[in-house]
Amino acid sequence: MKILVINAGSSSLKYQLMDPNSGEVFAQGLCERIAIDGRLNHKVPAKGLKEVRDMPMPTHAEAIQAVMDILVDETFGVVKSTDEIDAIGHRVLHGGMKFVASCIIDEACKQAIRDCIPLGPLHNPANLMGIEACEKAMPGKPQVAVFDTAFHMTMPPKAYRYAIPAKYFEEDSLRRYGFHGTSHRFVSKRANEILGNPEESKVIVCHLGNGSSMSAVMNGKCVDTSMGLSPLAGVPMGTRSGDIDACVVQFIMNKEGISVDDCLNMLNKQSGVKALSKGFSDFRDLEAGQNNGDENCALALRKFCYEVAKYVGSYTAAMNGLDCLVFTAGVGENGIDTRAEICSYLEFMGIKIDNERNHVRGKEALISTDDSKVKVYVIPTNEELMIAQDTAELCK
Ligand code: AMP
Repeated sequence: MKILVINAGSSSLKYQLMDPNSGEVFAQGLCERIAIDGRLNHKVPAKGLKEVRDMPMPTHAEAIQAVMDILVDETFGVVKSTDEIDAIGHRVLHGGMKFVASCIIDEACKQAIRDCIPLGPLHNPANLMGIEACEKAMPGKPQVAVFDTAFHMTMPPKAYRYAIPAKYFEEDSLRRYGFHGTSHRFVSKRANEILGNPEESKVIVCHLGNGSSMSAVMNGKCVDTSMGLSPLAGVPMGTRSGDIDACVVQFIMNKEGISVDDCLNMLNKQSGVKALSKGFSDFRDLEAGQNNGDENCALALRKFCYEVAKYVGSYTAAMNGLDCLVFTAGVGENGIDTRAEICSYLEFMGIKIDNERNHVRGKEALISTDDSKVKVYVIPTNEELMIAQDTAELCK
């Protein structure tokens, strides 16, 4: 079976053609600078082939056409015809309260994604453009929407409601939604498999990347997560502030004379570890800076680990216990010192890291000692595989 997985952003479109059963990736790539000029980066992993093509991409339709063309290309192609593609799975950012699971894309589904634009104003329009471009390029091909918010829809009201006047929830659906749901689902499912699929389990997933989010997963269901109405909430991230007192927004707007949109842009793009370190959002740069004696980089790393550890503590309280702590995404899978520092706050809970086992990057591993009360794992995430599996399941 061959599933095309699409993740469409406002000026970019990532794709992978993959087997949902084996996870084999036949081809993958990125269209970038859509609506600016246009560039296709394409890879065929099995053959070690790479191709970069500059070409005009005024809209997502031209980008998808470029992907279709290269997938059947004589040299860089992996299929004879796009008929060999069984179905298409799309990553969609915001499913609002309507989507608790992935769904086949039809007119009603597209309208529901459109209805969620006020909740995901940057991403949902781009996701729709990707869907409509695929409809145009491959009419009649089954398509599935996989929502970043869906996994978190099992949260109870005490976790998802904000303590603000009820009308904003009742009239406008303002609440905690959470994001990275496909990753939290993939990784917590794998953690439960490793634990032997017990009937009862308490798992915390730390998805630590450029964007970071935490989730508390009880008996396979999400009961709390750190991102909120938008991905700005939670732990400090590469460029996002994470949780912040709303009065800080008021203070900065008054001081700088800027609009609320400009202030939020600053909190999304110029804050987080980038702000604390005075310039570095990439964790490899922060570690290099710290090793060269840069105190700002050191502070950024200290703050990040401290806030992640505090979330682990609060989610352990939320679930009244913890069986398994999981690290995933770029920093979670690769940041050896970061994992060790986060876990050093958690020794009171009986968490003990084995330094030798923790010396691992990018692969599944148990990193806690045999006598640790809580098992700690590194589990690489694979959102594309999860999207491909949902798509295959719904298109059976
Ligand atoms: P992601 O958003 O999941 O792609 O993660 C990107 C983040 O992972 C960046 O901040 C990278 O610096 C970080 N990362 C990747 N490799 C390493 C590494 N070897 N050590 C520390 N951080 C890493």
